[in-house]
Amino acid sequence: MRCKCRRCEASFILTPERQKFAYEVEKKYVLWVPRFCDQCQSKFLALSESARSYQDQWSESPSSLKSNRKFLQEWLVVLSAIEPYWGSAATCKYVERTLEELARQGKDA
Ligand SMILES: [Zn+2]
Repeated sequence: MRCKCRRCEASFILTPERQKFAYEVEKKYVLWVPRFCDQCQSKFLALSESARSYQDQWSESPSSLKSNRKFLQEWLVVLSAIEPYWGSAATCKYVERTLEELARQGKDA
């Protein structure tokens, strides 16, 4: 299957092997097609992994991380980098707001 990268617009081929891997290993849904070429995909994966680890930490202790400026700033850097790939800025905006709130309260962790 021929696909076009949404990030750099390069065209690339989706092989049956890649499709199988996506479905069985990455747990994508069955009609999934990659949005990015290999190069953009590997950058995207690294960023997603990093974003996920921040997300996990956040879901474990949102109340203490809410006042952890360093954590929020680092998370925001990752989210800003990943935003063009996701095409959604929802989490990014949320973290930005939390940081602004923190700044207003004058708290520093
Ligand atoms: Zn690309």
